[in-house]
Amino acid sequence: MKLSCDLEVLYRLARSVGDSKSKKARCLLSIGRKGKDELHLIVSTVKNVTGSTYKLKKNVIQIFDKFTKDGKTTIRFSDPAHDLCISKADPVKLKEFLLLLRLSPKEQGTVSVAPLLPPKMRDLDKPVTRLSIKSRGEYPIEAGFPSSLERLVAPNIVLTRFDRRIFNLSSLQHLDLSGNVIKVIPEELKDLSLSELILSGNQIKELPAAVGYGAIASSLKVLDLSRNSLTYLPQSFHLFKSLVQLKLDCNELQVLPRGFGRLQGSLRFLSISSNKLVLLPFSFSRLRLESLDLYGNPFKAGGLVRRCKNLNMPGLMELSARVIKKQKLLYNTQTIPVALCHYLDSSKKCLCGMHCFDAYLHYIAKLDLSKVSSSLTSVDQSGTTCVPIELFLCSAKCLKLWK
Ligand SMILES: [Zn+2]
Repeated sequence: MKLSCDLEVLYRLARSVGDSKSKKARCLLSIGRKGKDELHLIVSTVKNVTGSTYKLKKNVIQIFDKFTKDGKTTIRFSDPAHDLCISKADPVKLKEFLLLLRLSPKEQGTVSVAPLLPPKMRDLDKPVTRLSIKSRGEYPIEAGFPSSLERLVAPNIVLTRFDRRIFNLSSLQHLDLSGNVIKVIPEELKDLSLSELILSGNQIKELPAAVGYGAIASSLKVLDLSRNSLTYLPQSFHLFKSLVQLKLDCNELQVLPRGFGRLQGSLRFLSISSNKLVLLPFSFSRLRLESLDLYGNPFKAGGLVRRCKNLNMPGLMELSARVIKKQKLLYNTQTIPVALCHYLDSSKKCLCGMHCFDAYLHYIAKLDLSKVSSSLTSVDQSGTTCVPIELFLCSAKCLKLWK
């Protein structure tokens, strides 16, 4: 029985921290008999093919198997006092391997295993880090994905949903499921530390808000959701702090989240052509892009002011909410009613920093996109590069200052 994996050996009786563990290396673990003797486990590496040997009979103290499904396990031996920390193993093979290790001494004596032969260099395979599936027939329905995958590409094979086994691939960085018929992005996607996610040409209607609060929000650099059926992006979208390239062309987006411009720190390449955008949030003006494409959106004309009735005399609820926001007081559904939480979350910030709720001026101004991006496509056939952006202003005084 053989198992390819990455291995780090912890020496429990080491005298100094520097000597307490080996360097992680790809290795081959083999279990078998030496002649007609008891079962042994041999660890072979490229540098040491004949390997180190561990007796199995009454020698395995403990097996830490909580993460076997992720291809990780630690085996603790009594003599020598070593912990073998296995990672990047095939989960199915690892499970079979552990079954053999768990046999009682009596069962070990009778179980039939192949004799231990010196491993061949080709057995010391490298972990599979890339998988490209070109047809439905190549899809690993029963075998599962190698846990060491870093790049998984499976375009145009009529996948109707996310395969949940993907969420166990903790090393995955690049995922391409473009050109399929996926409708729903599961919330579990938030836990993957992907740097590239390509989901163009599917039938996705929404991006769950939870993805803005997971590991993926800090790691994702490239996101392609073009040619889907998105009608909105979650308000948490600005939390994708590392996003450099974003493609949202050919969707049905009518608005962008108010905080969209908070992607200013990382975002450089943005395309949202052929959507249904009628205006952009004010924060959009903060972006500093290298390339921008907003062609084919039905943008409104600018210069409109919608005045709210109670602008000069805000209600008591509005005044209290303004104080809560100004003082940055913490609130949640445990401390105040849900309706009040929603009310507080609905605040619109004036350019002066004041938070407004029901009493504000809604002003549609014009933004020259050449101030936002060094390279850009006009938004229509006539070559226009100005688009409407919406502002919320707390008073006529602030409107005057803006104008
Ligand atoms: Zn103001």
